[in-house]
Amino acid sequence: MAHSLFDFLKPELSQVLTEKGYPSWRAQQIWEWLYQKGALSFEEMSNLPQNMRAFLAENFLLQRPVQLRHEVSKDKTEKWRLVLEDGNSIEMVLIPEEERERNTLCVSSQVGCGVRCAFCFTGTMGFVRNLEAHEIVSQILLARDFLKDVGSAHQKRTLTNIVLMGMGEPLHNYSNISKALQILMDPSGLAFSKRRITLSTAGVVPFMKKCGEELGVNLAVSLHAPNDAIRSRIIPLNQHYPLAQLMDVCRNYPGINTARRLTFEYVMLKDVNDSKVHAKELVGLIQGIPAKINLIPWNPWPDAHFETSPFERIEAFQNVLENLGVPAFLRTPRGQDISAACGQLK
Ligand code: SF4
Repeated sequence: MAHSLFDFLKPELSQVLTEKGYPSWRAQQIWEWLYQKGALSFEEMSNLPQNMRAFLAENFLLQRPVQLRHEVSKDKTEKWRLVLEDGNSIEMVLIPEEERERNTLCVSSQVGCGVRCAFCFTGTMGFVRNLEAHEIVSQILLARDFLKDVGSAHQKRTLTNIVLMGMGEPLHNYSNISKALQILMDPSGLAFSKRRITLSTAGVVPFMKKCGEELGVNLAVSLHAPNDAIRSRIIPLNQHYPLAQLMDVCRNYPGINTARRLTFEYVMLKDVNDSKVHAKELVGLIQGIPAKINLIPWNPWPDAHFETSPFERIEAFQNVLENLGVPAFLRTPRGQDISAACGQLK
């Protein structure tokens, strides 16, 4: 059966080529076609011998997921629904920020999500399956095709940042995420700096340290509550990994310091977690961790039992944090009109 070529790290590809009698250095040429020139067929790979192109075409696939729907928000956020080989579908979101010269792609890591956070629409799907490494990599390739972003690490790139904040809990799919990120960060391939990649987790404690040590990407922790009672109610995973464990692993996340802070995401839910008392409790909870807090107004979805905190309440919450020395940013929801904002993907 043919395999996707986007499932192979470069040393793995070299090994396959060597076993078939081709020189291992050809892997570098293939790599450039895949990740720098954005080749869509083996025929394009003009510096490979014809017999090698035939071998690759017989044994490997280069396909991207099929685009089922593409929507553009009035704020220019774009969302794609993609169909995978087995008929399941996922969504990915491109968030342009012209003034910062940034294009950020929000990537999915699973079909559905088993964490089932009470405020998240994706969570209502439950877990369907993990994405394979090639299904993660090909989301980035699709976005690059769309942005006509080709070239090596030395050229100015249009797709600038990747966030693993789409459908799914990335650390419940660590092996595929790890492989996909290694491919993305390979200096001779897509060459994304680890500083331009952010992995968001609901707090899968056993994999957080591993993620920091092995991948070194930025970490965003979906905290959303200042104490265990509230957090266990809205994020069931908290019953397995309570805040004492979560804060311990955050405090020791490799590479964090005041110049490179951890991010805590905090969704603002009216009358659940949004009082000034909660804000003070939150400051105590994260004390000593070099961190910033993103305050996210909750994005509504059908039949949800939450309301977004009023703006004045969010502002008061933010003031408490800042007066106590914690950097706090209010995140403007993007793509709400096409259900592309945080927690709305399904
Ligand atoms: S917020 Fe993230 S971890 Fe929680 S249910 Fe939604 S996708 Fe899963």
